[in-house]
Order: sequence, then C-alpha cells, then structure tokens
Amino acid sequence: MLETVFMLPGPTEVPQAVAQAMSRPMINHRGEGFKRLFSEVQAALEPLLNTDGGILILPGSGTGAMECAAVNLLEPGESALVVAMGAFGHRFADICRGAGISVTNLNVPWGEVPDPQAIRAHIETAGPKAVFVTHNETSTGTCLDLEGVGRALASTGVFLVVDAVSSLGGIPVNMREWGIDVLVSASQKALMTPPGLALVAFSPRAQAAAARNPRPRYYWDWNLYLRDALKSQTPYTPALPQWFGLLEALRLIEAEGLESVFARHRAMSRMTRAGLEIVGAPPLGMASCASPTVTAFRMPGGINADQVRQALNERYGMVAAGGQGHLKGEIIRFGHMGAATTGHVLAALERLGLALRDVGATVDVPAALEAARQAGGEGT
Ligand code: PMP
Repeated sequence: MLETVFMLPGPTEVPQAVAQAMSRPMINHRGEGFKRLFSEVQAALEPLLNTDGGILILPGSGTGAMECAAVNLLEPGESALVVAMGAFGHRFADICRGAGISVTNLNVPWGEVPDPQAIRAHIETAGPKAVFVTHNETSTGTCLDLEGVGRALASTGVFLVVDAVSSLGGIPVNMREWGIDVLVSASQKALMTPPGLALVAFSPRAQAAAARNPRPRYYWDWNLYLRDALKSQTPYTPALPQWFGLLEALRLIEAEGLESVFARHRAMSRMTRAGLEIVGAPPLGMASCASPTVTAFRMPGGINADQVRQALNERYGMVAAGGQGHLKGEIIRFGHMGAATTGHVLAALERLGLALRDVGATVDVPAALEAARQAGGEGT
C-alpha cells in the first residue's frame, strides 16, 4: 500500500506533534493558561512577520482575514488599487468592492507578476489610499517581489496591504523594513496547522487609521481585539485547538531555523521545476517569479490535467490541486510548503511521471528524479 503524498497548496499536511497538541484538553480562555498561550504565540510569530505593530489571530480562514483588513483600514467610498496576478488578487478586489471601497484594478496575465515600478505608476494616476497585493499567488504559483514593491511605494504614503496566505512561514516577510501596513494570512498553509485561524498583522499607522475609521463593524473590529490584547485575551472565544497547534508548529519552525525553512522551500521549488522540465510539463510562471511554496504546471501534448489528477489520486495515492478559473483542466498545482520535504517532491514527481505515462505520454521518470535531485543540491 502506497503512502499518500498530500501536496495540496493548502490545507497542508499537519505534523504529528501539531495534531497531538491540538488534542489537549480545553483550558479556560479567560484564565492564566490562555494568557500565557497568547503571549507565546505572539512572540513566536514575530520573527516570521518582523513587525512593530499588532498581530491578531481570529477564528476564520484567509478570506476572513482579507475582509478584516479591508473593512478596518478603509471607509466606504475610499479608494484602493488592487493588483491581481491570479484568482486571489481578484478575490481581494471583490472583497473591497463588497465593502463599498472604490477599486481601481491592475491586472497582469496569470503566470506573470507586475513590476513594482508599474504599481508605482498606477498609484500616481489613480491616487488610492491603499494598494492591495498578493505576495504569493496560489492559483498560478508566482511570487511577487514584495520588498521591491515596498521600496517603490516608500515615499508615496499609500498603505500597503498584503495577502500572505500562502507565503507566511515559507517565504521571508519583513513588515517593518518593507513598509507593509497590513498583512493577512491563515493557519493551513506554510504554518502547518489545520484550517480555522485567520491572521492579521498591521503597522502602527494602519492601527491609527483603523481607530479613526467610522465604518460600522463588529466581529472583525480590530479595535476590540487590540483592547483585549492588552490583557492577553481575545474579545470572543478563541479557536483553542488551533492555537495549541499553531504554537507547536511555530516551535517546529523555530527548531529547524527560519533560514533553513526558507531554504528548504526554495529547494523544493527548484526541484519541482527541474523535474517538470524533464517530464515535459512546463511551469506556468517564469523561473524569476517562481513561488517557493506552490508550482502550477501545464500538461504535455494537450493532455487533460484533471484526468491526470484523477489518476494520481486513484492509482498513485497522491493528492494535488487543479486549476482555478480559466485554467481549470489545464494545469495541476503542487503545494510544497509547511511540513513538505524534498522527499515529498521526489515522490510527487515520480507519481506524476507514472500517471502521465498511463494517459499516453512518454516520460523518463528516472531522469526527472535525477534532475530534481541535482537542482535540490546537497542532501536531496
Ligand atoms: N489568498 C491566497 C493567496 C490563498 O492561497 C488562499 C487560499 N487558497 C486565500 C487567499 C483564501 O484563503 P481561505 O481559503 O483560507 O479563505
């Protein structure tokens, strides 16, 4: 019986230690135990975020965190430039529009990323109060030069809001040095914890803007969370098992070392792409904007991607994601983040090669594995 290789770009595999931590007995969320947990999680998240401001952990998924960011930062009628390089950028635009924000779109073709200077030029013409970007676009496997965007926006005074749902914990982020005002993420990707936690971090000036914002809101109101954070509490019942799990996951990241974690993610991306080249399944984005956490790729010779995914699932015990929007049936996406290792990548490439053979492609599986191993460098 083959062991399942689970390579969705979220939710990702949950390490045993995290799953065990989640089964701990409940604690009083108004007691000393939770206060300690609250402080420990905040402290363990800080090196991933590098922020001078607040970090909120709310029950919800990434989409909830995105809405929370939009409704706290902007009043109805205020303007935003929303940069979309795939499905999740478009979702940010929809969320903003739904919140009555006046949206200008900057859309780039799926598989490409915008030049930071192009974002800067759009700010000069559109004059928005905030720019919304996706750090790592999970629908296309592309990663934005977030540091470059931060630099390009530095003198503009415009708020920078970042969707880091599929990057935080796998790709470096520096809110302080890159001028990020609001960053949102979620538990179920590189943070190796099951779905259920939304994370929102913000700069002091974003916090001040939210404090002044008269927009009616209740459950997502940062101000209430910040008020209670002073007591190391949350205003409403926290999702305790997820908090137990997240702390354990952050301890695992700390033990591996953040730089090693980032290097492992980059190695998994290089390996995947090198293997795919031999397989004849070209990645969607260029190597220069390749995501360290997810790779999206097309099929050789017009093969239907969903048929290959089905073969992977049914015959080879492998779970991968399909395409979204207009890429449905066209691509497969491998998530290689969180607890995934270079060994998972090799197993995934091998099973992909076999599944492609089954549907008629000619694939040199050993050569693909060797190319991946070489691209991974030492230890693979
Ligand atoms: N943004 C990005 C980049 C994502 O990858 C996802 C989830 N795939 C989301 C937002 C939405 O998160 P959720 O499904 O947790 O609401």
